[in-house]
Amino acid sequence: MARIAVVGAGPAGSLAAGMLADLGHEVVLLDRRNDPTEPARDGRATPLALHVRGRRAIAAAGDELLSAGVGGTSVVLARRIVHGPDGSTVISETPEDRRGRSIARHDLSAALFRWARTRPRVEVRLGTTCLNVSRSRRQVELRGPEGHQAEESFDAVIGADGAASEVRWAVARMPSVDIAKVTSPWGYAEVIIGADEGRHRLDGDAVHVWPGRSIFLFALPQVDGTFTCTLYARHADWPVSGYQVIHGLPSGEPIDLDRLGERYPEAWPHLVGPSLENIRNGLKTVQAVRVDALDDGGWIALIGDAGHAMTPYLGQGVNLALEDAVELARRIGPPGGDLPAAIRAYGKDRHPEGIGAADLSDLGVRLYTQMPFAGPDPLAMTVGALNMGELRHSDAARMWIPGWRPVVQPERG
Ligand SMILES: Cc1cc2nc3c(=O)[nH]c(=O)nc-3n(C[C@H](O)[C@H](O)[C@H](O)COP(=O)(O)OP(=O)(O)OC[C@H]3O[C@@H](n4cnc5c(N)ncnc54)[C@H](O)[C@@H]3O)c2cc1C
Repeated sequence: MARIAVVGAGPAGSLAAGMLADLGHEVVLLDRRNDPTEPARDGRATPLALHVRGRRAIAAAGDELLSAGVGGTSVVLARRIVHGPDGSTVISETPEDRRGRSIARHDLSAALFRWARTRPRVEVRLGTTCLNVSRSRRQVELRGPEGHQAEESFDAVIGADGAASEVRWAVARMPSVDIAKVTSPWGYAEVIIGADEGRHRLDGDAVHVWPGRSIFLFALPQVDGTFTCTLYARHADWPVSGYQVIHGLPSGEPIDLDRLGERYPEAWPHLVGPSLENIRNGLKTVQAVRVDALDDGGWIALIGDAGHAMTPYLGQGVNLALEDAVELARRIGPPGGDLPAAIRAYGKDRHPEGIGAADLSDLGVRLYTQMPFAGPDPLAMTVGALNMGELRHSDAARMWIPGWRPVVQPERG
């Protein structure tokens, strides 16, 4: 029986931990947060689109209660409604078998974490931060809730610690592995459309989009009747932005924050919570991180955002993260197998998927800046196939990006 550390109890880490324990391994699932079932302290309420691909990964855990729990906190997205500046709408119905679900980020994390902690052989350690991973000593340096630091040995380490992963550095420090962190020129602010006595104010079975060349709004319904919305704009056009200060960006065509209500008449009068404060505080940055390897040759595996944090424009991140967890657990299999070989096989197969998804996601902005399209948009059709798991991200990247290869730096030497 292998003793495996899973660093990070987000969606990817919890699913991987639970599945590995069910296979018979001893798993230590640790997270720096004291309670992963609580919403994040940074106030981010980001809604997630969970596609058929992601739901299939959750179903692979084979626990009906888990699938039902995730289903119960999510809303089926039966159609997409694109709102025009003149108040017109274009409605596209999604066939029943291709419908995704909208779920609050913390509801998904909470459902998976609660499930993982019920599995036999999962030891949960909260308030525990991974400070460093040493490949030469095969040890993980941890700081516990009381501030005590210690190194601990494991047979394998799974880095599921998100976009700012600590575990990733142990892989990226290897001389042959390149890494690139890029901040998107687009940032976002979260706003919430309040419920009308528990009911949705707009069609509650739909994802709503208000496209625009320099600013677009995206609203996903939540089970409590609210819509959690993400307003995307270029940092260069936003009047208040920390990103501008660092990059010294001239303001292009500054967006007048006081006139946003004119752009979004269906939404603005009903904003609640810290929505307007979020807008005035400036845009949050979006970062993409690409690494040249998802494994170190047999001891460390990176899953989810730790291996491939991507821009959110195509809504692929969490779906890929859940799939990574399943693919890794499937390759590791029950105790007694060749653990290093399984980790290498995982890395070899999944690495092109992560880079492909990250490269495609950057293209995704065009879906919202160039809408509405005169006819069916081929990128949108590709995304539909990705959401269903009918197409690999690496194959889609080859279709869309001439000469695409799964590397951090396209030109070498
Ligand atoms: C604005 C926005 C919108 C998005 N929309 C979508 C969408 O619609 N659909 C979609 O599929 N994806 C979307 N994503 C992406 C999605 O949120 C991520 O891909 C997903 O959360 C990744 O899950 P994860 O488990 O890999 O990492 P995370 O959810 O980030 O979890 C990482 C965990 O690791 C813990 N941790 C971090 N560092 C340490 C450490 N050193 N020691 C111990 N624990 C640590 C953290 O506390 C956390 O619990 C969006 C992202 C953004 C920013």
